[in-house]
Amino acid sequence: MAATADARDVIGEATLGELEATLRGHLIRPGDPDYDQARAVWNAAHDRHPALIIRCAGTADVMRAVEFARSEGLQVAVRGGAHSIAGFSTSDGGVVIDTSPMQGIRVDPTGRRAVAQPGLTWSAFDHETQAFGLAVTGGLVSTTGIAGFTLGGGIGWLLRKCGLTCDNLVSADLVTADGQLLTASDHEHPDLFWALRGGGGNFGAVTSLEYRLHPVGPLVFAGPVFYAAVDAAQVLRGWRDLTATMPDELTTLANILVAPPVPFLPEPAHGQMVIGVLGVYAGPVEDGAKAAQPLRTLAEPIADLMGPMPYAAMQGLLDPLWTAGAQNYFTGTMLNQLPDEAIETLLAQHAAGRAPVQELHLHHGGGAMARVSAGGTAFAHRNAAYVLNIIARSPDREGFDEHAGWARATHQAMDPWSTGGYVNFTSEPGQDKVQASPPDTYTRLVAVKDRYDPTNLFQLNQNIRPTGHR
Ligand SMILES: Cc1cc2nc3c(=O)[nH]c(=O)nc-3n(C[C@H](O)[C@H](O)[C@H](O)COP(=O)(O)OP(=O)(O)OC[C@H]3O[C@@H](n4cnc5c(N)ncnc54)[C@H](O)[C@@H]3O)c2cc1C
Repeated sequence: MAATADARDVIGEATLGELEATLRGHLIRPGDPDYDQARAVWNAAHDRHPALIIRCAGTADVMRAVEFARSEGLQVAVRGGAHSIAGFSTSDGGVVIDTSPMQGIRVDPTGRRAVAQPGLTWSAFDHETQAFGLAVTGGLVSTTGIAGFTLGGGIGWLLRKCGLTCDNLVSADLVTADGQLLTASDHEHPDLFWALRGGGGNFGAVTSLEYRLHPVGPLVFAGPVFYAAVDAAQVLRGWRDLTATMPDELTTLANILVAPPVPFLPEPAHGQMVIGVLGVYAGPVEDGAKAAQPLRTLAEPIADLMGPMPYAAMQGLLDPLWTAGAQNYFTGTMLNQLPDEAIETLLAQHAAGRAPVQELHLHHGGGAMARVSAGGTAFAHRNAAYVLNIIARSPDREGFDEHAGWARATHQAMDPWSTGGYVNFTSEPGQDKVQASPPDTYTRLVAVKDRYDPTNLFQLNQNIRPTGHR
């Protein structure tokens, strides 16, 4: 289908008129004044032209959109926060089921639950739950959408204390390929509920997510501390050693990055490789200050911004560095260990890269994430000691393919310590990502896909192909 497909050529004006008349939300087509703004996704590496964007006002619109896409044989992209790195939430010539207008949330402070619609970002979600001093593991960048994030797993600052985001999902409503609304929980469609927690958007369009919440903040001990390149190996080895004994309340990340020209970093460091160690202590501030102290003395810091801060401020701290509209390539892998040789490999790879923004994030795993059994949810890599996210980013296309190649080469160089992928941290669509799940998990995922989406209507994701569609 042509990249500039007009829905009128493909579908017919009368049919589109009928669709529009049955929606409470908004239908956007090529040529409409808001089309270009509506088709844009966070990662500008994916510049696609859907035939239709259905801005859903509620569940009824999602049901109508799914039914329409199926009956017209259109490719379906489902969108929440539009942060898919791989560009799954857009399509050339297909239909985008855009849930971003669905922003409702109800917080039950007594029962510590939130029921949230899929169009919310973490910023909006945290805003509502923090009013009661509650939170669930959310994204490191608060503009990310809750839906895609949760369905893929969900790695964030509360990971070690509260588990992955998907570990805190209590139930979800979703519209399956036959246009029906189902509730999935431990008690209803438990096979589907298992698959939704790590299996991504393969099984339907989610219209509501119910989360378990935890007391967090509003003030936490958190923030980043930065070290110079000359101390890089010592700092990473020191951080790695500390992770062996860190309390579950403390979730940290070590980042090998090119220092951005920000006022809180000394000018001579700008444009140079530096190491950032960032963390959040999900507990009393005084305990956090004590627990985080060793992270601040791994060498002589060039900037130490750790201290008491609102949890919501920490959630938004990195937002200015990760705005929409640049070209991005991410590739992630789980690491079972981080020996000195792996640290040296990462430092050498970083030095070899040329991207304007290139970052190697080492998320510390373990804690509550590791206490869920490998078969308990579709997110099976419970024993990963670290999750590595390799990021190349540039403002435009120039050099981007080379930078993406660097990210792939870095991933390959880390193969000796890799144990599997993470669907949310990848730019490459491909069956191998889900097939890299443990065999038991993959077999179960296919069985659930066969049952709820046998024609593979929902295929713009790390796709689990149903039997008969191989
Ligand atoms: C700047 C940035 C920071 C990030 N930080 C983190 C991080 O800290 N931790 C982490 O774990 N991940 C992180 N990610 C990855 C993120 O989890 C995924 O990109 C996730 O898919 C984003 O969700 P979304 O709703 O914004 O995306 P969208 O692009 O809207 O959706 C992505 C995919 O999720 C599925 N999906 C979305 N909504 C629905 C729905 N309603 N029903 C069914 N399926 C749906 C679809 O398959 C869709 O293609 C980050 C990504 C970016 C770009």
